[in-house]
Amino acid sequence: RIACLVALAVVTLGGSASAQDRAIEAKVEALLKRMTLDEKVGQLHQLTGRQMTGPGSEKFNDKLDDIRHGKVGSMLNVKGVAETREIQALALQSRLKIPLLFSLDVIHGYRTVFPVPLGEAASWDLEAMRLSAHIAAKEAAASGIHWTFAPMVDVGRDPRWGRVMEGAGEDPYLGAQIATARVRGFQGEKLGGLDSVMATAKHFAGYGAAIAGRDYNAVDMSLQQLHETYLPPFKAAADAGVATFMNSFNTLNGVPATGNRYLQRDLLKGQWRYKGFVVSDWASIKEMVEHGHAADLADAAAKAIDAGSDMDMEGYAYTGNLAQLVRSGRVKPALVDDAVRRILYKKFELGLFDDPYRYSDAAREQAVLNDPAHVQAARDVARKSLVLLQNANHALPLNKDVKSLAVIGPLAESRRDLEGGWIVASDESRVVSVVDGIRAKLSPATKLVVAKGCDAACTDTSGFKEAVAAANGADAVLLVVGETWDMSGEAKSRTELGLPGEQARLFDALAATGKPVVVAIMAGRPLVFNNVADRAAAILYTWFAGSQGGNAIADVLFGDYNPSGKLPMTFPRSVGQIPISYQQYSTGRPVLDEKNIVYRSAYIDAPNTPRYAFGHGLSYTTFGYSDLVLSKPAMGPRDKLEVSFTLSNTGPRAGEEVVQLYLRDKVASIVRPVQELKGFRKVKLAAGERRTVRFTIDRDALAFVNGRLERVAEPGDFVLMIGSASDAIHLRQEFRLLE
Ligand code: BGC
Repeated sequence: RIACLVALAVVTLGGSASAQDRAIEAKVEALLKRMTLDEKVGQLHQLTGRQMTGPGSEKFNDKLDDIRHGKVGSMLNVKGVAETREIQALALQSRLKIPLLFSLDVIHGYRTVFPVPLGEAASWDLEAMRLSAHIAAKEAAASGIHWTFAPMVDVGRDPRWGRVMEGAGEDPYLGAQIATARVRGFQGEKLGGLDSVMATAKHFAGYGAAIAGRDYNAVDMSLQQLHETYLPPFKAAADAGVATFMNSFNTLNGVPATGNRYLQRDLLKGQWRYKGFVVSDWASIKEMVEHGHAADLADAAAKAIDAGSDMDMEGYAYTGNLAQLVRSGRVKPALVDDAVRRILYKKFELGLFDDPYRYSDAAREQAVLNDPAHVQAARDVARKSLVLLQNANHALPLNKDVKSLAVIGPLAESRRDLEGGWIVASDESRVVSVVDGIRAKLSPATKLVVAKGCDAACTDTSGFKEAVAAANGADAVLLVVGETWDMSGEAKSRTELGLPGEQARLFDALAATGKPVVVAIMAGRPLVFNNVADRAAAILYTWFAGSQGGNAIADVLFGDYNPSGKLPMTFPRSVGQIPISYQQYSTGRPVLDEKNIVYRSAYIDAPNTPRYAFGHGLSYTTFGYSDLVLSKPAMGPRDKLEVSFTLSNTGPRAGEEVVQLYLRDKVASIVRPVQELKGFRKVKLAAGERRTVRFTIDRDALAFVNGRLERVAEPGDFVLMIGSASDAIHLRQEFRLLE
């Protein structure tokens, strides 16, 4: 059966091939014929390169030797033209001179740092995300990198899980659109361009659903749920031609993803006909031993290659065992050949056999890493990612002519925190802090007072006094609080999602002055800050906004940019509501059911509603929704439904609105959520301008994954909802899908 599937994959590789594909395939086959088993296994081994060169590197001599002997196929964590050249030269001393692939976690920028991916997702601006990925790729590629371990496309519905910071939030539809945009950004039109890198769809699969939001924890869910909610962004990435997939650390329904044949062999390489290769996550093959799925490293290697894991990242499972496993007959040689073919194919596609140093040009590196256009783009994307959560009394925007402004809080002057996690080649001295950004906006006539109040951990409250005095003496007060950069990300699960330490008390102390307090919150995930939400004059959620974050935040605070971000993840009122998503199900005990007042599906100590809903985000202007028209009341099986409505800018200034289209399938064989996002547009309107917005609903938009894991659209009634947030639906109409 495995052989059969492998054969199928190979046939597919040949099946839809262009002339260029066929030429590469011929080269791959010719090279494969010349390779020894050990050389083949070498291609499947990925090694980390930290401290491989320079002082203290002597102890890595063995590794350098392995590269010289063709025992390594790829490196991670080697970067820069000088270093990649030096290491590539070693690979070229090997018998077959097969070049190395250099990979790195270029997650949200290389030299120029863009907002963390969850922040960018809040822009709902696919072109902005494509551009950000493109610039990151361009800089990385100019610095010798061929391959980034991004985008992370794991759906995240549990903000306790720190890695929601790296994804696109909770929604499969939005996540799929963003996955496509990011893959296109990183890879460009075609692999092999000098300003692009190979992308990775990770972590395949289910990683975001770790039990209780604890990183690396087991995942247990129905296959129906997996297909419906967690796989769409992966499928979108595969369809967009993503060069590689990375598997994940977690078990899925009892089987480690890394050793999961269903996921990798049957689904990805079988049903989806995926042509790229799968890299393991860091030592995830080895972790199959700790999981209790493999007896030892050799057993893990056999199970992983069988399951479709092509490259072993730092696990030493393949390099130490695979050749012997083939010789003993436990592993079929065809499995190794299939993995090697996939990897060599990419090396040819990147042009590395023609010129192994084509990504390593020092002059180009200098020019690209210092391109001022990248800085401008970082500022622009950062502005788009900021979300205005509340602004009831129009405390924002601030007036630039304000006589005195107090900027308070532990993160007000921080540079490092603005960058967020996964910083690989940034230059902290180029980061613009919030205070830097504000200072650049104000004339010397404004008195600017900066007071920390406490440090980021905020255990020592002795600085509160000075902060309160600063607030008392100022006409406007801004508080900058939130997580430090290292509180969100890998292995950063939290059981409490409040502002760190006594930061919430710092807000209380300032609010007690009676001055309106505007709050900017930095974080890599949704936080819980009810006291601030209840009393702040305005709240701007800034995520970790990148190296231009301070300028971007100041642009919004002073009205030079009208905020347009919308939440890509639900913000709960309390940790006890988690996991929470706008995709709720209607229970048999609805909250509004009068007859069931007591035994309803609710909490006795909190509402069911979140603090801020998915899709929520305000602007300095207001938008009106009217004149919803559906092209017909019912659509036949092959019809399309045209939807249009009028969006009006009813406020005083130009702005952008993200209009959102949700559907509900009222009766279905698998009960549908009360709302599912099926379309969105970001529309820019001048003050007073009106525009007709159109959507087309096809059968696929009505389809879902049924109990047999087929995508089907079942005839019946649907509710169409259009709004400015999942909890702000302004237009609604029913229609029918006919048999
Ligand atoms: C992470 C991956 C990352 C890899 C390499 C792992 O711990 O889970 O997302 O790409 O390390 O740095």
